[in-house]
Amino acid sequence: MKNQMKLEFDSISENEGFARVAVAAFLTQANPTLEEVADVKTAVSEAVTNAIIHGYPGEVHTVTVIARLEDKQLELEVVDTGVGILDVAKAMEPMYTTRPELERSGMGFLFMEAFMDQVQVFSKPGEGTRVQMKKLLRKREE
Ligand code: ATP
Ligand code: MG
Repeated sequence: MKNQMKLEFDSISENEGFARVAVAAFLTQANPTLEEVADVKTAVSEAVTNAIIHGYPGEVHTVTVIARLEDKQLELEVVDTGVGILDVAKAMEPMYTTRPELERSGMGFLFMEAFMDQVQVFSKPGEGTRVQMKKLLRKREE
């Protein structure tokens, strides 16, 4: 089975919960475990929060979330066209944050990597950021 969905929403913090629940609802067709749903929700939450607070600081623009399922393979993309990241490798280091004043701890990318199989970040200063994540869901008896 192959299926894809795309969400576009304003970069306000209220929409972080919306994106998380929408992706979880999309995922139910793959018959995931509760743990898999929780993992994916956390990863979506971190990536969307980053797009909102870091991608578009002080401004409201569009965040796009794409979810693709092909049998048990899940692929997620969280995209903003905001400020972008100069040094992606550095941004992905544990405890690295550019917003300590917002009580950010620099753990977002670490959580995404912990809960998904693969996390890739494509970003360019001034053009925006695309976070692509993959997770292979467990095979279960129907
Ligand atoms: P936490 O997620 O623990 O609250 P954080 O958001 O600072 O803190 P990460 O999510 O790991 O930590 O992100 C690290 C850094 O990468 C951020 O501080 C920010 O500088 C940069 N960053 C992450 N996502 C984006 C984005 N979409 N646009 C621009 N910069 C980003
Ligand atoms: Mg973060």
